[in-house]
Amino acid sequence: MKRNTENNVIKGTAACIAVGSELLSDAKLDLNSLEITRVLEMYGFDVVEKRVVGDIIERIAASVRELLDGCEVVIVTGGLGPTADDVTREGVALALGRDLRHDAEVEGWLKERYEKVGRTMPEIGRSMAMVVEGSEVIRNAAGSAPGILVEEDGRLLVVFPGVPWEMRSMIESHLKARLEQRHDGTIRGSRTLLIGGVVESEVEGRIRHIYDRFGRDNVTILASFGALRLVLTATGAEAQVEQDLDRMEKAFREILGDDVAGIDISGLAYAVVPALVASGQTVATAESCTGGLVGAALTDVSGSSDAYMGGVVSYSNRAKEEMVGVPHDVLVEHGAVSEPVARAMAEGVRNRFGTDWGLGVTGIAGPSGGTDEKPVGLVHCAVAGPQGVIARHRVFPGDRSIVRQWSVNGVLDMLRRQLISQS
Ligand code: ATP
Ligand code: MG
Repeated sequence: MKRNTENNVIKGTAACIAVGSELLSDAKLDLNSLEITRVLEMYGFDVVEKRVVGDIIERIAASVRELLDGCEVVIVTGGLGPTADDVTREGVALALGRDLRHDAEVEGWLKERYEKVGRTMPEIGRSMAMVVEGSEVIRNAAGSAPGILVEEDGRLLVVFPGVPWEMRSMIESHLKARLEQRHDGTIRGSRTLLIGGVVESEVEGRIRHIYDRFGRDNVTILASFGALRLVLTATGAEAQVEQDLDRMEKAFREILGDDVAGIDISGLAYAVVPALVASGQTVATAESCTGGLVGAALTDVSGSSDAYMGGVVSYSNRAKEEMVGVPHDVLVEHGAVSEPVARAMAEGVRNRFGTDWGLGVTGIAGPSGGTDEKPVGLVHCAVAGPQGVIARHRVFPGDRSIVRQWSVNGVLDMLRRQLISQS
């Protein structure tokens, strides 16, 4: 570890604890720690451990104690509410060897909060007015349960409610300022290049030779079914980090060219929709195996109504004929999953909606329905535009939902490239 130690604390290290028995079940995943990690990294802290702990006082206490022994910052979320299973306050008090005491001012806040939403505070609400001796109480602007903040022996322990927006409001109001005070000016910044229409092994091969220049740890490839993310990271003073990221981005762009769909965007639709809007063009979709997912991806982008005119889920042959005008003979001759049908869907929906572009997707998502000639995963995509229709097909690996994701990214990337070549 790069930093000095004092009082057994390794400077610059952090840990997160998510409290809640439901987070140990198969129903719910700890997501709070992802947001917290993002903030910690912004201020140059390395997250060295994360834990998920059930609603058990002794286990919470043990985890808090162990992680405080070594880490500079420990952040706990969950279990601060008023119900019997909310025991984080007790766990933290036990870990620190401090008492809980009733705080009249905090009870006042709680009563006020309940009144604001037209309720009176139930008797069990009083448990939230118990505060850990010698700690700071963080008022909850977005809910009831107050947070806890303790600074001792060079360490910072912060406890937030589990409700994500309550946690977020306390991160803004309290955590960031405390991290800023401790932070030595170095930050860890990242930038993500979204890459469409290429496979991981191929990208890896093309960029491997420049990994070394920037440090292998500073470049990560995340693959997700037709859209890759190349995450670039840099550590140092803020201005230096920006410069390093600019340099890295430039180097990767030189190699990847038009494969780069955008920077820090969450999906290919976030490249396609702005490109359509900027050029005053429109698109419509005819979807079979994706059942509307292409339309959903496009409408996820705010402002998409300027570019996306609508779509048809033409799932049955009849819908393909009647809704988007796929000729009956073409369906009979080639079958619903075929290039001529994908082309006819794209053209048909373009005509039907009077748009500049039409997208057609038809495939076999599986697990049933495959044949030797047309295996599961076979998907035909087509893009109809001012210059005519282009079509592609692939046999995508993966289960039903993954084949559908590949298909969405596949057809959006085809449109994205058409828009680039047009400009
Ligand atoms: P309250 O009981 O007042 O709502 P709390 O601090 O006791 O607050 P929890 O009861 O632990 O919080 O969690 C409240 C809700 O917040 C949970 O139902 C869950 O949906 C969500 N939540 C809690 N912890 C996490 C987590 N680590 N990641 C994602 N969601 C979480
Ligand atoms: Mg609770």
